[in-house]
Amino acid sequence: TPARVVDSVSRAGIQRNIAVMTSGGDAPGMNANVRAVIRTAIFRGSRAFAIYEGYTGLVRGGPEYIREMHWHDVRGWLAEGGTNIGTARCKEFRERAGRLQACFNLISAGIDALVVCGGDGSLTGADLFRAEWPSLVEELASSGKISADQATQYATLNICGTVGSIDNDMASTDATIGAYSSLARICQAIDYIDATANSHQRAFVVEVMGRHCGWLALMAGIATNADYIFIPEKPASKKDWEDHMCGIVGKHRKRGKRKTIVIVAEGAISNDLKPITCKDVLKVLVDRLGLDTRITTLGHVQRGGTAVAYDRILATRQGVAAVDAVLAGNADTPSPMIAVAENKIVSRPLVDAVRLTKQVAEAIENRDFAKAISLRDAEFNEHLHNFMAINSADHGEPTLPVEKRKRIAIVNVGAPAGGMNSAVHAMACYCMSRGHTPYAIHNGFSGLARHESVRSISWLDIEGWNSLGGSEIGTNRCVPEDTDIGMVAYYLEKYRFDGLILVGGFEAFVSLSQLEHARAAYPAFRIPMVLIPATISNNVPGTEYSLGSDTCLNSLVDYCDVIKQSAAATRNRVFVVEVQGGNSGYIASFAQLASGATASYVPEEGISLTQLEHDIASLRESFANDNGKTKSGRLILKSANSSKVLTTQVIADIINQESRKRFDAKTAVPGHVQQGGLPSPIDRTRAARFAVRAVQFIEDNTELMSGIRDTWEPVETLSRPEVTATAAVLGVERSHLRFTPVRRLYDFESNQGKRVRKKIFWDEVREIGDMLVGRSKAA
Ligand code: ATP
Repeated sequence: TPARVVDSVSRAGIQRNIAVMTSGGDAPGMNANVRAVIRTAIFRGSRAFAIYEGYTGLVRGGPEYIREMHWHDVRGWLAEGGTNIGTARCKEFRERAGRLQACFNLISAGIDALVVCGGDGSLTGADLFRAEWPSLVEELASSGKISADQATQYATLNICGTVGSIDNDMASTDATIGAYSSLARICQAIDYIDATANSHQRAFVVEVMGRHCGWLALMAGIATNADYIFIPEKPASKKDWEDHMCGIVGKHRKRGKRKTIVIVAEGAISNDLKPITCKDVLKVLVDRLGLDTRITTLGHVQRGGTAVAYDRILATRQGVAAVDAVLAGNADTPSPMIAVAENKIVSRPLVDAVRLTKQVAEAIENRDFAKAISLRDAEFNEHLHNFMAINSADHGEPTLPVEKRKRIAIVNVGAPAGGMNSAVHAMACYCMSRGHTPYAIHNGFSGLARHESVRSISWLDIEGWNSLGGSEIGTNRCVPEDTDIGMVAYYLEKYRFDGLILVGGFEAFVSLSQLEHARAAYPAFRIPMVLIPATISNNVPGTEYSLGSDTCLNSLVDYCDVIKQSAAATRNRVFVVEVQGGNSGYIASFAQLASGATASYVPEEGISLTQLEHDIASLRESFANDNGKTKSGRLILKSANSSKVLTTQVIADIINQESRKRFDAKTAVPGHVQQGGLPSPIDRTRAARFAVRAVQFIEDNTELMSGIRDTWEPVETLSRPEVTATAAVLGVERSHLRFTPVRRLYDFESNQGKRVRKKIFWDEVREIGDMLVGRSKAA
């Protein structure tokens, strides 16, 4: 255990004996959760235990199943898939006798707090166990199995749930640990299937997991632009779904699409509750449309592999929060479940989450599908609405009356980021479903100076863009004032655009601000304008998430896994990895958390010689303790801009000099690999969500702007908040999706010189990242 942790433990004294277990189906990220619980427990001065094999281990008990865990026992677990402490489905725990035995086993092992990582079933069991605990203790005491002292000492069991399940079927949380990893696997498989389907003009019916929840199918549908999805929450009669699917697939084929992808959730049903199988769907596609159709059942591939960056981070942050919750809990506090709302980790009563989750299943059983869908969270409903609007856009008539149909342009600005194409794709599809005409401005604002850079978007132009990396319409760093803002106004006027969507990072932010300021001089900019943040640096004011940052984190974390393996094989090696991100330490900080790097140096903190010395001393200590016994490599992440003097190479040289030949350091520079290849499913689906919201923003504000366009009084009009609000940044802030006026962000929340947002929201992530590798800050 690192010296710093030993110190903190000896200062605090042993607080509690905290056990962690994984239960139900395995999910990528469970290991990261267990690692975080164990290390946080030790760090906070408690002893940590693991219950092996889920509730089976709890019921069987004894040293084989309930083992004390130490700091080094979980080294390297971040990058490992599945759950290393095993999981099971256990019948005995469903009976009171089994839970009585489990209670006895926990008390015998001296455990007084339990963190359960599992799905809705596992957490239902945990909730019941906690509720029954006093009566179980009483029964054990009265039968003499435990002493009166033990009964007093273990009068309550503090339980906390962290939701680990690939299904994302738990109410009260946006995401469960493992769901996005599973989604990544599904999308990767469908991307592969796409290529073969396209080659042979085939249809593929793909079955995905998810039990009674359609989240995986829905999100995969959006991320891969599937033609049709079947989910349990929205069943139809056999005739209706057959007609609807054939109508949509048939139109897509007529439009020139060479392939068809239909996704069937494993729990898909028709409205008489009869399962809809892949075979049923295949038969309809063959019989009615004559398509050469194949079935692919992805099966357990969906559970496998290492966790994506999002799940590692989610699982880690939830593990820390869970330990803090059980340490803070007492007999009167209801058991919490650690959840996530947008990007914020929150604690919710476990009992409420379990109750709500059960209500969904009951509503489906009672064929009250409207209720089932209303009980899924708002984001699920939004995605479902978007999928249907984007996907069936050419199926029915556009939804808006002719007079409300607009001409809306989209432009990409700045460096490429994963999700830019997905945003253009979703924007165009949604526009067409509403009746608007979507336009793309090619090659950024400077492209306007060249001939024919403004083109309307048609279906076939954008086929497949949802899953492409880079920027198909081109992008560059030129802001309007770099080219000729009058010329930009001229083209916006010439094409009579009613709204403009910018997609990009800090340059796009500056561009939007310039256009907003230029409204006084140019009527062309008196239209609603909105920025969809897209940059790997995630430095845009007004949002805690930018498209591309997730794709970047995944590329970086994959890279770090590979490099770490090499370092581990060599035993005594540390890699200094140079990370992009401009003057923002977001990527380095989150990558440290997701890869378990020994340290990360970021521009916000710089690199002091004392800290470097301190970190080298820790490396020396950890390699000395290790003595080549454990196989883990060490990484240090260095943001390129964290120091001008201490470059990546200089840091490696200093480490080599100071290591006293006990270990060596090498540099690794992933460079533009960090922009990622294909966008991650998170970036694809969020791009779709952002794009639809952006179009809606334009719809909501065109009337106001067209009303004042020609009667514009510079001072007076610009002081009206509802007018300044029509040039806004769309972003996630404090767990809500919101539009913030660019003017406010530019004036108060951005650092122009450094090109970053002023407020850093990842301090906590840095603290956790350091804590879990036992890094201390130099005094
Ligand atoms: P996944 O979402 O991956 O399927 P899950 O946690 O929902 O995970 P389940 O099989 O439903 O998986 O539950 C796992 C275990 O939790 C069960 O085998 C059982 O031991 C326990 N469990 C589930 N429901 C209950 C319950 N109502 N009472 C007591 N224990 C339960």
